[in-house]
Amino acid sequence: MELRDEDKLAWILKSGWKGLCPHCGKGRMFKAWLKISDRCEVCGLDYRFAAPDDGPAFFSLCVVAFPLFFFVVWLQVAFDPPAWVHLIVSAPILGFGCVLPLRPIKGWLVASQYVNKSQEAGTEKLWQQLHAREEEQRRGRLDA
Ligand SMILES: [Zn+2]
Repeated sequence: MELRDEDKLAWILKSGWKGLCPHCGKGRMFKAWLKISDRCEVCGLDYRFAAPDDGPAFFSLCVVAFPLFFFVVWLQVAFDPPAWVHLIVSAPILGFGCVLPLRPIKGWLVASQYVNKSQEAGTEKLWQQLHAREEEQRRGRLDA
């Protein structure tokens, strides 16, 4: 699947937002809220390449938490509300604002990894060896 750059971005955004397989666009990427599937149930894409690590949390903090934090500070400075206003307004906004974007951000990162064939530089051979060994263990040919 070779896509032009604009098409790549659109595909990454679409499949990541909807949590769909970045290869076929039909299977589900997640088997739970933030848990990536082992394989696509439609095309069999192996998700072992997917390693967004703490990327979703980082981007959620940078893109969502900081602007929301400034909103909360502005609310305090502009209106000087009593503390219960922050309990009712600020805390839920910050909590949901940081947690809800985690899944689409994780979907975008995984889709981006797949579409751009990203991999840690210089680890192609090690990656192949590790997964060949895993595959052999899975088939029961190796005594673990
Ligand atoms: Zn698929």
